[in-house]
Amino acid sequence: MDSKLAAYITLVCTSAVLNLSILVYTYWRRHYYTNIANLFMWNTLTSMIYCFGYAFSLISTSLEQLRFWNIVQYVGMPFFPPLGLLFVMQYLGYKITRKRIIALLTMPCFTFLINVTNESHHFYYRIYDIHSVLGAPYSEIEYGAWFAVHNIYIFSCMLAALLLLLSRWKETVSVYRSQLFALICGQLLPIVTAFLLFIGVTPDGIDPVPMVIWFSSVLYLWSITSSRMLSIMPVAKETIFNSMNDGVIVLNDTYQLIEYNQACKIMFSELDRSTLGQPFDQVWYMLTDQSFPVQLDTISDKLNVTIHQANYIYQLRISMLQQSNNNSGLLIIFTDITELHTLQQKLEHQAYYDDLTQIYNRRAFFQKSEQSLMKAKGELSSFVIILFDIDLFKKVNDTYGHQTGDQMLVHVAQICKAEMGEHILFARYGGEEFILALPGYTLAEGEKFANYLRFCIEQKPLVENGKLVSVTSSFGVSVTTGAVEETIYQLLQKADEALYAAKRAGRNQVRVFTEKYEFVE
Ligand code: GH3
Ligand code: MG
Ligand code: MG
Repeated sequence: MDSKLAAYITLVCTSAVLNLSILVYTYWRRHYYTNIANLFMWNTLTSMIYCFGYAFSLISTSLEQLRFWNIVQYVGMPFFPPLGLLFVMQYLGYKITRKRIIALLTMPCFTFLINVTNESHHFYYRIYDIHSVLGAPYSEIEYGAWFAVHNIYIFSCMLAALLLLLSRWKETVSVYRSQLFALICGQLLPIVTAFLLFIGVTPDGIDPVPMVIWFSSVLYLWSITSSRMLSIMPVAKETIFNSMNDGVIVLNDTYQLIEYNQACKIMFSELDRSTLGQPFDQVWYMLTDQSFPVQLDTISDKLNVTIHQANYIYQLRISMLQQSNNNSGLLIIFTDITELHTLQQKLEHQAYYDDLTQIYNRRAFFQKSEQSLMKAKGELSSFVIILFDIDLFKKVNDTYGHQTGDQMLVHVAQICKAEMGEHILFARYGGEEFILALPGYTLAEGEKFANYLRFCIEQKPLVENGKLVSVTSSFGVSVTTGAVEETIYQLLQKADEALYAAKRAGRNQVRVFTEKYEFVE
């Protein structure tokens, strides 16, 4: 054995032993690497078989031995590039399905079978013989058609893995770039060395790949050990994206739909993968029969809008996606605020409306009448306040029960409500007292209107269990002409005094407050 050959054998054996050590080490620590360890171990195992097979072929002394170890090599060699590709895919967060594994490993299975059965068809090696001059373990080989197919396939696998890694370069945060770089080198190493063999520059047709693939394994192992996060992050991001309750839509810089999440699909059931890549305006129109409420190309920062869509209300948060200061798209987040909106409306209603009569409450009355009074003052027009109280209401409660009393309050509120236009404010002041604000009314008009309401209430009894329950009410009216500075409270005080006068005068009456007589009886 010459010294050159001894050196080759030493190198290949070292590589095989190193691969074996990496395999044992990974197996021992496999629980730390989740399932990524499986593909890595298969990759290392096939590399190791390839190395051992090659090492033994280099110490073969006969054609039979040479051929036997050649076959052993093929248990590993055709498999490690597609397994390397699967490993890289898994590392980058691609789902490794059974289908993908079968698809990628079918070719190497064929290669192995064709190689094993070569003697019957010579499809792999047309000639496989011991070198006529150098003798064993050197060989004289003429390759058949399948050899080319096999080479194209393994180069494609290695190249695909390399391209996948390179495509992630830009989006990989700098802390993980060194791991990505290690993986790229790990892929490049067998590509370059296999290419050297392919173009025939290696001495004596020696295959250099088994000598270097241990280094690829080391680089891979270092990458998984130091950046397990990288394989988990894309999965984690995907999980977060799809488990969000908010609908998320991603558009590119030309406003085409790039991605949407599960929640979005639930919100817009017609959204499907075929809409990806289409202009978002078009997709939105297809989903809603309406144009998108925001002109997308005018968005320069962040935007919040509320939209009503079918029976739902959504809050939209639109923000720009920026990559190194360039606009690279838009992120649209849809939050379903229907329930919140309904609750808010309910609370607002409760805050401003009386539970029983469903007309404004005292709080709403003061708020709205103050604005109305200010406006009347600005326009120098008069402003009337009418306060009325149901007569002898206690008796209604005592005679017919509290429930009928309640119904009477609703009944009176309805009678009055039916008689007034939008411009009059009407509220329950408390108990069986009601209040009205009439902007632009004179005292005489206010008195007339109060009398009309008094008449209506008197004339329309409540029908309760077939019985007629009638009530009367007493009214107090006050006015401000805008000439004197008066508040709602002062007007109310005056109306209350006038009401008191009406009660004293025998009830079922209207009284107006006048400065001169204090009140008119
Ligand atoms: P007056 O003609 O002097 O106003 O006599 P009145 O009986 O109406 O006066 P009073 O203020 O003494 O009684 C008002 C009654 O109204 C007392 C209270 O029990 C009743 N009341 C107040 N709020 C409600 C209510 O929400 N439902 C019912 N059913 N009764 C109410
Ligand atoms: Mg009363
Ligand atoms: Mg009262």
